[in-house]
Order: sequence, then C-alpha cells, then structure tokens
Amino acid sequence: MEAVVDFALRGAEALRVTFIGLIAPAIFFFSIGLLAKRKQLFSDMRRAAKESGLNASILIFNTALLLPIISIASVATSDIAGWIGISDFGRSFWTGLTPGLVIFMAVFWGDFVGYWRHRLEHSPLLWPSHAVHHSDTEMTWLTLERFHPINRITTFLIDSTALLALGFPPYAVVANNLVRHYYGYFIHADLPWTYNRWSLVFVSPAMHRWHHAADPRAFDTNFATVFSIFDRIFGTYRVPGPCDVPLGVTDKMAPTLIGQMGYAFTPRAYARVRWPRSNGSKLNSSD
Ligand SMILES: [Zn+2]
Ligand SMILES: [Zn+2]
Repeated sequence: MEAVVDFALRGAEALRVTFIGLIAPAIFFFSIGLLAKRKQLFSDMRRAAKESGLNASILIFNTALLLPIISIASVATSDIAGWIGISDFGRSFWTGLTPGLVIFMAVFWGDFVGYWRHRLEHSPLLWPSHAVHHSDTEMTWLTLERFHPINRITTFLIDSTALLALGFPPYAVVANNLVRHYYGYFIHADLPWTYNRWSLVFVSPAMHRWHHAADPRAFDTNFATVFSIFDRIFGTYRVPGPCDVPLGVTDKMAPTLIGQMGYAFTPRAYARVRWPRSNGSKLNSSD
C-alpha cells in the first residue's frame, strides 16, 4: 500500500513539474506566433485545438506511465554503455576539453545518432509506435509531446547509450537532451520559416513540417532534429519551400488516446508497413 501511495505521489509530482515546464514554451510560441501570423494565429489555434488536446492527453499518459520505466531504463543505459566498453577511453578524452566544446560535440554526435535512430523508426519494426507522432494533422510545438511510450523508451535507450558509450560526461548528455527537447519544440511549431542560407546547417520548422507531410514526395526525407547537414550528406534533404500540404499518416488510427496507444499492438500495423524503397509503393509508410 505504501508503495502505491509513493508511486501516486511521484506521479503527481512528475505531472506538476511537466506542466510547469510547459508554461514558458506556451508563452514563447504564442508570442512568436502572434508576431509572425497576427490574427491568423487564433484561427490556426482553433483548427488545431482537437489535435492539441490529444497531444496533451498523450503527454499526461506518458508522464504517469513512464516514471518507473525511465528509472529502470537509466540503469540499463549505463549498463549497455559499460558493456560497449569504450567509455573509459572517451572519459579521459572529454575531460581534457572545455565544457562548451564537449556540449557541442554531444549535440552534434547526438544528432548523428538521432538521424539514424529516426530512420530506424521508419522501419517496419518501429514504425507502428512512431506513427503516433506522425498522426497529428495539425502540427504545433505540442506535437513534440505526441509519442508512443515504446517510441519514447527506444529513443532514450539508443540516444543515451550512444553518448555514454563514448564516455561523454553526464552533464553533456543532459545538455544534449535539453537542446533536442527545446529545439524539438521549435521545429514542430506552426511557422513557415525555411531559414534560407542557414538551412545549410540547421533544421528549420518548414524542413521538419515536410517530414510530417502526407505527400509521397516527402516520404523518407528530413530525419535530423538539429543539423540539416546529416540529411544533406545522406541524401534525404528536401525542402521545396514552406510546407503547405496536408500532414499525417495513411495508416488508419483512431484520433483518441486508446486508438493511438493501441495501434502499435494491432497486427495490421505491422502488416501494412513496407520498407518504403523496397517495392516502389510508398502508400503505407508516410513519414
Ligand atoms: Zn516530428
Ligand atoms: Zn518520423
């Protein structure tokens, strides 16, 4: 009984911290949206209200559910990193550098790992859980909170293990997570910005919006979160301009918490998905 009460109290505290953490981004994106779109912001917000509500309910579900799992995954992550066995060498390497450079390297390496992890999420095995993130047809900054818990766990395990295995100090791993989280809000925001010349280096909101497009021409493109150079190097960069095509997936997913969470457990989710480039048919893998 004591354990149940303890778990409930920790869950309530996690929810409180999560919602306090949303206040600053909410004010920031409301202000920036008002500057960029003026009155149109309010009609855009009304149109996105239903999907944003679903995003909020998925966030609450994940916060309540993932608390114990993440603490178990943290132990597993350091164990896996230890088994890989290059962390000792890496640790002595990073301690010789300034913290700013270490953080930059962690974010850069973290985005390289994230790029390939994201491509893996578009494979038959991981797509059914990743599809939840893509099912938002009215993408806003809050879409960053729309993830299936399985997707959250695989992301955490792969990204953190890769950084710890190279011996990055914990502060750099935390800094990388924070940069990816807050920059992740930014690239999901409903803003038409393409960055012009800066798009050579950084992922813009328009670039990531194209990644969510329900348009076959956009499938399998724009996987990076921070540095667009990875998509350029590996041939997946595509930004024809601001993204004004419909967003979402071709998979049939109910727009409810149960429908979204349950989709990854239905056999049809795995039957429908194809390797996008394997047979010329891209109908079932809308990235
Ligand atoms: Zn996204
Ligand atoms: Zn994706």
